[in-house]
Amino acid sequence: MTQQSTSGGQDEKIRAELERLREQIAELEETKRQLEAELKDTSASAPAPITTSAELEATLWWFLRRVGMILQAEKAVLMLYDQETGELVAQSPALGLTKEQVEVFRVRATEGISGQVFREGRPIITDEAMTDPRTVKENVALLNMRNVLTVPLAIERKDADGKVVEKTTIGVFHVFNKRGGERFSEEDITLLTALARSAASVISSARLFIAVSDEKRELEATLQGMLAGVLVVGSDGRVRLMNSAARHIFGVPGDDGTGKPLAQVVRNEEVHGLVQSCLSGNAEGSAELTIFAPEERIYQVQTALLRSDDGDVSGVVTTFNDITEIRSVERMKSEFVSTVSHELRTPLTSIKGFIRTLLDDTEGYYDRDMQREFYQIIDNECDRLVRLISDLLNLSRIESGRSLDLVLTDVDLPATIDRVVDSQRAYAGEHEFEIIVPEDLSPIRADQDKVEQVLTNLLSNAVKYSPEGGKVTVHARDLGDNVSIAVSDEGIGIPPDHIGKLFTRFHRVDSRDTRKQYGTGIGLYLVKHLVEAHHGEVTVESEVGKGSTFTVVLPKQPPVAEDEAEQQKKEPEGDDGEPG
Ligand code: ADP
Repeated sequence: MTQQSTSGGQDEKIRAELERLREQIAELEETKRQLEAELKDTSASAPAPITTSAELEATLWWFLRRVGMILQAEKAVLMLYDQETGELVAQSPALGLTKEQVEVFRVRATEGISGQVFREGRPIITDEAMTDPRTVKENVALLNMRNVLTVPLAIERKDADGKVVEKTTIGVFHVFNKRGGERFSEEDITLLTALARSAASVISSARLFIAVSDEKRELEATLQGMLAGVLVVGSDGRVRLMNSAARHIFGVPGDDGTGKPLAQVVRNEEVHGLVQSCLSGNAEGSAELTIFAPEERIYQVQTALLRSDDGDVSGVVTTFNDITEIRSVERMKSEFVSTVSHELRTPLTSIKGFIRTLLDDTEGYYDRDMQREFYQIIDNECDRLVRLISDLLNLSRIESGRSLDLVLTDVDLPATIDRVVDSQRAYAGEHEFEIIVPEDLSPIRADQDKVEQVLTNLLSNAVKYSPEGGKVTVHARDLGDNVSIAVSDEGIGIPPDHIGKLFTRFHRVDSRDTRKQYGTGIGLYLVKHLVEAHHGEVTVESEVGKGSTFTVVLPKQPPVAEDEAEQQKKEPEGDDGEPG
């Protein structure tokens, strides 16, 4: 009886245990079914594509947590194969691993369990990671592995019948340490293999998407950042794309242009013509167009056909390169050449004229004073020629990128100012000169010829651009480490919109008063370069009709770079050292 009842009690226990196991199995099967349904679902209904690394990370994190739950594993980590290093590298995020552990967890694709699964493409269960001869012990210790299930991460390409036609292994997927001291089972292998398949496809398509969208973003940024305008018109005549430079040229705000007919967006007949003839006649072309919005600018416009993969014309891409500056420099250059020829001929004509007069005067018609006056004029005209040639040589030096080598000596400023003012008196008509210089102004370290050239250019401008005469003042000041020399006149002055451009080459104020004076537009450009070669600065203040003041500030001791100092020890000056 007793025995019977005991065995009956045991039977009951076993039945109950069996019942519990059955329930567990049913539960597990239900989970598996759900999971498989979910997997099918994710592969069938195309989910919103992952386009950023942050989205991929969030998706993986959600996925790893589910894997941990389903397989009852403490840790889970994906390792991807890095072609460059030949290693399998742990990816972040990982379940149950610290950031530091993920960072150092990597193995060669020829090593350990990871390597074997990667190479053979078959799952492996490791029950005793520490004693298993196949494991890399450092990693086992690092990650506190007890038991491990590793499956390959493979992407499969299937044909229309669902047959796998291509399989690429991109890494491996580990889960570690089954909870409750259990071992990983065959069932776990099936589950993890299915899960790994969907993880691999998510990762590879996300990577592709991220790469493509990164490339697209880069391309868009490049296009938007381009100085040239880019306009893409589809074969239906509608604007497909306009970068910000193109929108600026045609005064189109924001994204307004996209999708609209070209004629509505770009109000320029010539552009329509170019695009149309490209579209209809398949004739790519280029033209130089002056476009007036928002200001007059010259553009080199180029059209090119866009073709789809099958070779059909899908649109026209038009680029607009602003060549206004190039054209204006070209114009200025050609004007410059004619001005220079004129500037060279004028003094020569005058020199030749006076010499001829003196030579022809065999009768002694001109007295000594008169002859002296002629010689004085000839002398002045020679100075003017020398100055012009010296300016031209300096200009060519700057233009060819060569430095204006300085020959530093102690320059006595009061004496230099006196000398330059004296030489200018010869050209001055009604002008009065005033020199204000502190008595104790000490010499400065500078290039004597170049300082004279700067002062000569400023003084000759002061005289030239005050045709009615007036006072020309040279005012030197001691500023401690620097000296300033201000050259003021009471002449025609400079309009405010020209002030910023005065020191650029060939720039002349386009006014009747200026045109009356000879000039090349390179004097102030040279002044700026010569002063800056001394590490100094030149500024201007002016009022139209009242006069102008140009102020040069020079350091008493310019900082000399080593190579400059070396240079000075050698043969100092080239072919352009003539003072003005
Ligand atoms: P330029 O050979 O024409 O005199 P610069 O480079 O010396 O060339 O000067 C450039 C332009 O700046 C001049 O054409 C003139 O319009 C203006 N300018 C220079 N100095 C003065 C001044 N003191 N007063 C008025 N205008 C000046």
